[in-house]
Amino acid sequence: MAEAADTRATEVTLEEIVALCKRRGFIFPSSEIYGGVGSTYDYGHYGVLLRNNVKDEWWRAMVRERDDIVALDSAILQHPRVWEASGHLEGFTDPLVDCRTCGLRFRADKLEDAQCGRKPSKHPGEFSECDLTDAREFNLMFETHVGPVKDTASTAYLRPETAQGIFINFKNVLQFARKKPPFGIAQIGKSFRNEITTGNFIFRTREFEQMEMEYFVPPDQAPKWHQYWMDERMRWYTELGIRPANLMLRPHDADELSHYSSATSDVEYLFPMGWSELEGIANRGDFDLTQHAKASGEKLEYFDQERGEAYVPHVIEPAAGVDRAMLAFMVDAYDTEEVEGRKRTLLRLHPRLAPVKVAVLPLVSKEGMPERAREIYEEIRARVPAEYDEGGSIGKRYRRQDEIGTPWGVTVDGRTMEDGTVTLRDRDTLEQERVPAAGLGDRLAAKVAEPWSSPKLG
Ligand code: ATP
Repeated sequence: MAEAADTRATEVTLEEIVALCKRRGFIFPSSEIYGGVGSTYDYGHYGVLLRNNVKDEWWRAMVRERDDIVALDSAILQHPRVWEASGHLEGFTDPLVDCRTCGLRFRADKLEDAQCGRKPSKHPGEFSECDLTDAREFNLMFETHVGPVKDTASTAYLRPETAQGIFINFKNVLQFARKKPPFGIAQIGKSFRNEITTGNFIFRTREFEQMEMEYFVPPDQAPKWHQYWMDERMRWYTELGIRPANLMLRPHDADELSHYSSATSDVEYLFPMGWSELEGIANRGDFDLTQHAKASGEKLEYFDQERGEAYVPHVIEPAAGVDRAMLAFMVDAYDTEEVEGRKRTLLRLHPRLAPVKVAVLPLVSKEGMPERAREIYEEIRARVPAEYDEGGSIGKRYRRQDEIGTPWGVTVDGRTMEDGTVTLRDRDTLEQERVPAAGLGDRLAAKVAEPWSSPKLG
């Protein structure tokens, strides 16, 4: 029998997302048993699975379904001269102000978003006792030391972006991949920034993961490819279920542009705290390759056989954050509704993103149902990520799966033992159909691969 949906609310706060992540073991504050360490998070089972799916969808779109982009995994620690040449040592800074009264530090360009330490002031500088210093540039790179001697010669940096690892491998990749522009190099990996202000859960942390792709093109084609990648990246988010009304492209003003960029547009998402950057899509020109060629003495260019000349390709860079994307997917998927007088919370995630695709549940823990359910589960899990759950009432087990976003539930009941059929429950419609257990793994794998759009679109 299908449960009937009565009403639906769509607004979600960040607190509700944080609570669900904690309740269902997606994300924990790091070092919790020691009282926590600010803005650092650990990912639990479902968090890891969801994150992996986000990354896998990016790899699919960037590499598996194309012929012009290759993968790379470069080291976090790089030669310190990389950061000199890239301009990060000099220019990867945010303006910082200190308050002499409360001792807190703020980003000078984000004072209106910051919270003052003193009441009744809301924002730094608004209270009569606020005593802000002049702004000074603060470098966001984490410094560390390599080897046993701690002196200036041993200074190294934790990379603040994955992009430079790509540029310094341009020559290696070009030789090995035998590609010609336009072609791309894609990488996913950890980056580190000593952000002045963090917050909004996993939106801005000091350690995070980036998905970056550098697309090398003939210089005169750069504007065309910039537009192409803006369209592609918007499509990626909407195809994975983000509602188009919650997504926009915002071109940077001239004074916002990074030191390397001639044009950047941000993909912004309507997060609970307002429109904020999800991904940046920059036209980096030939800045990086030229800088590294100058500093290293290596030629970083492409020799065009047909034209008989060498040139430095221009670069289009879609740079996304894994953690921010994951947060956006969760926010967009979060829903509550009333079902037969009880509140149901669920994540209406795209099946390809859902941590678990199907839960296999014996109706009761007796009469051979658990054993039969396990057999069915083992057949299914060979094809799609599945979970077996026999603990607690069936309603409770459904609710649990709804909250982690499992799109389908397979229930093994008395009739299964007689005719080999099971019920297949749909997370979004709550419809239940009777289907043969045989071949269910294949059937579900086919369903995961089908195009999908958010049921919240109506
Ligand atoms: P912001 O303006 O929010 O600081 P940014 O413009 O400095 O971001 P980029 O350098 O363009 O960010 O990095 C590309 C992507 O990496 C961002 O769009 C974001 O998704 C992710 N990212 C950057 N900094 C952080 C961070 N501190 N925590 C989590 N993700 C981040």
